[in-house]
Amino acid sequence: MKAAKDQQLKLLELQQIETIIDQLNYKAKHLPEVKELDSARAALPIAENELINRKTTVADLQVLVKRADADVEQVRIRIERDSALIDGGTLSAKDIVNMQHELETLKRRQLNLEDEELEIMAQVEQAQLEVNKFDAEFESAKSRLNVAAAAADALLKEIYAEKNAKQIQAQELRTQLDTELLKLYDKIKSDQGGVGAAALKGKTCEGCRIEISATDLAVINSASPDDVIRCDECRRILVR
Ligand SMILES: [Zn+2]
Repeated sequence: MKAAKDQQLKLLELQQIETIIDQLNYKAKHLPEVKELDSARAALPIAENELINRKTTVADLQVLVKRADADVEQVRIRIERDSALIDGGTLSAKDIVNMQHELETLKRRQLNLEDEELEIMAQVEQAQLEVNKFDAEFESAKSRLNVAAAAADALLKEIYAEKNAKQIQAQELRTQLDTELLKLYDKIKSDQGGVGAAALKGKTCEGCRIEISATDLAVINSASPDDVIRCDECRRILVR
C-alpha cells in the first residue's frame, strides 16, 4: 500500500490522540470514586430491603397484638356477664357454684391472655428498635450514594470534557486521511489492543518495542517514502 508521507505522519498523530482517548476511558472506568459509586449504588437496595423486612415484622406483630387484645376483651366481657348473673340473684345455689367455677377459669384465662399480649408487645418494641436501626442504615446508604455520585460526577465531567476535545481532534484527522489507510489502521488497531500505527525510533518499533534486524532496516530505508511499511513482528503500520 502507498500513502503520502504527510498522511502517514497524520496517522501517527491520530494514533496518539486515540491512545489518549483509550487512556481516558480506562481512567474513567477505574477511578476509585466510580468504584465507590458502583458499590454505593449496589448497597442501597440491600439496605432498603433490610428495612422493609423489619417493617413487615412490626406490622405482622401488630396484627397479633390486635388479635390478642380482642381475645382479652372477649374474656373480659364474659367475666362481666357471669359476675352480673351471680350478683343478679336469679340463679340457684348450684348454678352459682358452677358459675363461680367458670368465673375462676375465665380469670385465669384472662391473666394468661394478658401475659401473652404483653409478651407480643415486648416483641413489637424490640422489632421497632430494629426498624429504627435499619432506617438509620438506609438513610446513611442514601447519603453515601449522594456523596459518591457528586464526587464521581465531578471527576467524570473533567475526564469526559477532555475526551470530548480529543474525539473532535480525532474526527477532524480522520476526515483528512485516505480511506484505505484508515481501514488498514482500524483493522490492525482492533487486532492489536488499540494500537494500529507506531513510530520507528532508531531501530525499534514503538508498537512492540522489538529491534528490527539490520537486513529488514535496510529494506525499510530503501523503500520509497510513500510505501506503507509494516512491522514484521507486530504487523503494525511503521511510520518513519
Ligand atoms: Zn512492532
